[in-house]
Amino acid sequence: MDPIIKSARIEKSAVTEADLEKINRFTLKTLEASEVFCFNVVLCGNAIDRAFERFTDKSLEDMAALYVGRTVIKDHAHRLDGQIARIYDTWIEDGEDGYKQLRASCYMVRTASNADLIRDIEGGIKQEGSVSFSPEHYVCGICQKDNMQGWCAHWPGVTYRVAGEDKLCTFEIDGVTDVYEFSLVAVPAQPEAGVCKAYKESVKGKAPEEPETEPQTDAEEKKLRERLIKARIRAFQNKNKKGEPIE
Ligand SMILES: [Zn+2]
Repeated sequence: MDPIIKSARIEKSAVTEADLEKINRFTLKTLEASEVFCFNVVLCGNAIDRAFERFTDKSLEDMAALYVGRTVIKDHAHRLDGQIARIYDTWIEDGEDGYKQLRASCYMVRTASNADLIRDIEGGIKQEGSVSFSPEHYVCGICQKDNMQGWCAHWPGVTYRVAGEDKLCTFEIDGVTDVYEFSLVAVPAQPEAGVCKAYKESVKGKAPEEPETEPQTDAEEKKLRERLIKARIRAFQNKNKKGEPIE
C-alpha cells in the first residue's frame, strides 16, 4: 500500500482483445496489438495526502467515470506534443483497512518519436503523477463547512483545540464535477522532486486574495474557486511551519 496517493509507479501491461476493443473506441483507425503500448497508473487513493486532503469514495467513483478518454501529459506540458497517452479504462481497487486506489489503463500509439519514452516505462522509471480536477464539495474536518460555498477559518495540516481535544484539520474532497489531464513527471533521483516542482509557482507565504474581476461563467467561477483553494493550501505550506493559521 502506497500512503502517498499522488505518486505512482507506472508499469507496462499486456494488450488483450478486450483492451483493443476499448482503445479502438477512441481511434479513427482500428489499431492492432502491435501498434499500441499499454501501461497502468495509480491515479490517486483515498488516504490523507501531503496536502492534508483526502478523496471520499464518491470522489474516486466520479473520477473513475470522468477520467476515461482523458489524456496523459508529461512534465505538466499542455502543448500538443506533451500529450503522451490516453486513458481507456479505470477501476477502483480495494486495499486493507478501507484503503482504495483509483487505477487507470493508458495506451499510446507506437511511433519513432515515443520509442525512448516507452523504453523508460518498460524499464520501470519512477514517475510522480498528479490528478487535475474540480471538487464538488471541499469540506473542513473541524467545522464541516463546505469551502466550495464559502471559506472557514481553518487550515489543513493545523491542529486545533476542539471540545478540549487536539484535532488535526484535514479537508475532504467529496465529489468531483470535472477532471482534466493526468500528468506524469519523471523523478530521476529524489522521490520528492516532483512534488517541489508542482508547487514552484506559488506565492511564498502569502495568503491568496480575491481577484478583482468577477468570474463571468460557471466554468470560470469553478476554476477560480479551485485556484483559490489550492493557493490557500500552498500559502499555508510555504509559510506555516509552526502550526499557526494564516489570516
Ligand atoms: Zn473549518
